[in-house]
Amino acid sequence: MKPFPRAEISRQALQHNLARLREVAPHSKVMAVVKANGYGHGLLNVAQCVSDADGFGLARLEEALQLRSGDVDAKLLLLEGFFRAEDLPLLVTHHIDTVVHHASQLDMLEQAELEAPVTVWMKIDTGMHRLGFSPAQFAEVYERLNRCANVAKPVNFMTHFARADEPEQPQTLQQLAIFERMVRELPGERTLANSAGVLFWPETQKEWIRPGIALYGVSPVNGDNGQHHGLIPAMSLVSQLIAVRQHKAGDPVGYGGYWTAPRDTTLGVVAIGYGDGYPRNAPEGTPVFINGRQVPIVGRVSMDMLTVDLGPDAADKVGDSAMLWGPKLPVEEVAERIGTIAYELVTKLTPRVAVCLE
Ligand SMILES: *Cc1c(COP(=O)(O)O)cnc(C)c1O
Repeated sequence: MKPFPRAEISRQALQHNLARLREVAPHSKVMAVVKANGYGHGLLNVAQCVSDADGFGLARLEEALQLRSGDVDAKLLLLEGFFRAEDLPLLVTHHIDTVVHHASQLDMLEQAELEAPVTVWMKIDTGMHRLGFSPAQFAEVYERLNRCANVAKPVNFMTHFARADEPEQPQTLQQLAIFERMVRELPGERTLANSAGVLFWPETQKEWIRPGIALYGVSPVNGDNGQHHGLIPAMSLVSQLIAVRQHKAGDPVGYGGYWTAPRDTTLGVVAIGYGDGYPRNAPEGTPVFINGRQVPIVGRVSMDMLTVDLGPDAADKVGDSAMLWGPKLPVEEVAERIGTIAYELVTKLTPRVAVCLE
């Protein structure tokens, strides 16, 4: 018996998506971004499925250490760098690259006593204005990094885009121009492109691309979907019907009773709710895929279950499978209905959802 609810992760889809990204960016190495538990797909699952990626990008040192414990020996990069001086010896021991985006990290590097230098990616703030050194600080910081014995040479460079998912907006090319002005002529590798950069701005691909969401088969843009880019969704969120009931016109359903049936119908109760990470604010009409068709959510999503209108002539039975998103129901579409982004849906599943590699 398969557990439910469960997130089925397709090994084949992950491998296909990596191959597809290599096709789209044939001259770049791929740093597969697997932060946040592989965007909810399971950190080690993903790393093992795409073990031929050239490297992995992470947000936390703990994630990198988990990969090393799982015998992953590829290049690892902490995308926000290290947070504490005590982390530095671990970077050396486990061969973990770090981003340096802030003067406090520079200070820690200069004061540390390390057995070997650390590979550093200097982060330049070209317009995101969240992390990174400004163009005005560039020369001084670059010089300090070069003088620091704890920093491996050459120093590498990265930046991050704020609006690469908006193909009509000029900001991405402006960010690229600022980046190129800073690093032109300098040795070291470069990385700029997240998924949207890879898919919509090929001129940003450079030595390394850093795709996250696209690797999972999902488009970085709502209203679009991964399949338009030759990607295959890697996650299917699946549960099942635990009740099928006849329901009278005019009767309410669920907490608050704010939905009432316009006609006699059949309701299905699906075992998934906000306690599993399915958003409570999913509005009436949000689709669920059951027995070959989409049916609408009615009434409020509760902690452990939600209700769908199966229609007056429904033949669905208790035990039938229900897909909340997956190849038959793009997560981008569900996200748009709910008023969020696919990134949030896949990363927010709770530990109650079994992650099953298929
Ligand atoms: C998360 C992250 C990525 C991946 O972004 P996607 O939009 O999922 O492709 C790339 N670079 C950095 C610095 C990140 O934090």
